[in-house]
Amino acid sequence: MKAFEVLVVGAGFAGSEAAYRLARGGRRVALLTQSLDSLFLPISPVTDPPAPGTLFAEVYEEGLPPFLLHARAKWRLEAERPRLHLVQATATGLLVEGGRAVGVRTWEGPEYRADRVVLAVGSFLGARLSVGQIEEAAGRLGEAAYDDLFEDLKARGFAFLPAEQRASPFKGAPGYRVRFYRFADAEWDPETFRLPRLSGLYAAGACTSGGQSYREESLAGFRLGERLLGELEDPAGEGA
Ligand SMILES: Cc1cc2nc3c(=O)[nH]c(=O)nc-3n(C[C@H](O)[C@H](O)[C@H](O)COP(=O)(O)OP(=O)(O)OC[C@H]3O[C@@H](n4cnc5c(N)ncnc54)[C@H](O)[C@@H]3O)c2cc1C
Repeated sequence: MKAFEVLVVGAGFAGSEAAYRLARGGRRVALLTQSLDSLFLPISPVTDPPAPGTLFAEVYEEGLPPFLLHARAKWRLEAERPRLHLVQATATGLLVEGGRAVGVRTWEGPEYRADRVVLAVGSFLGARLSVGQIEEAAGRLGEAAYDDLFEDLKARGFAFLPAEQRASPFKGAPGYRVRFYRFADAEWDPETFRLPRLSGLYAAGACTSGGQSYREESLAGFRLGERLLGELEDPAGEGA
């Protein structure tokens, strides 16, 4: 038996929400993200209220400013131990066995394995952030994006489309633009959240949509969590 039933890569709105739903549903889940200090962190104030039932709604209803929203979400995720294990690491590539995704390699060295793997890596695939004339490899201000996972996915044949998002100046932070890649429509099934090129592989959030809103990406993660709970309950019925 693997230590984890589901490995979620990326603790933004989508990934955190999926991991939280799975842990609350009694499943063993690892939530692996490159910086725990930016887990569930909005780039700007929330304008679109969260969907009921989500982790986002739970923390939003406390009426906190954005950085405390992050702190409260982290606290709630940590409170789901031991079912939910938070890991700070950067995924550099998939582990694949017999056409099935079984985990990830990390820049730090350890491999993480699970029965199912979720990619919720937001605006970080092939990301380039520009402020004025300056460009750097980052998925948002202050958070580097490493190209290894993107290169690994491309080498495995996954197709991508370019996407772009802009952040307005906020409290002394400059406005900026992030160009990144999302999975091409043919690679991802919005009904099942699967990336059918490999079995056992799923995705949600900005790496599939191009980035809609905190509300929509958190809702996508919640729905993915619900979907996986159903599949884990009845694996044969879902063709997993
Ligand atoms: C610049 C910008 C501004 C935006 N402004 C708004 C806004 O004002 N309002 C709004 O509603 N929406 C906004 N959006 C759109 C959308 O709501 C956000 O992109 C949202 O954060 C997406 O959630 P997510 O979970 O998909 O990804 P993210 O929140 O980006 O989370 C992805 C996570 O994956 C982690 N990660 C990435 N690669 C790896 C790896 N290889 N290994 C481990 N971890 C990894 C990152 O550290 C990050 O924590 C904006 C998007 C961008 C890019």
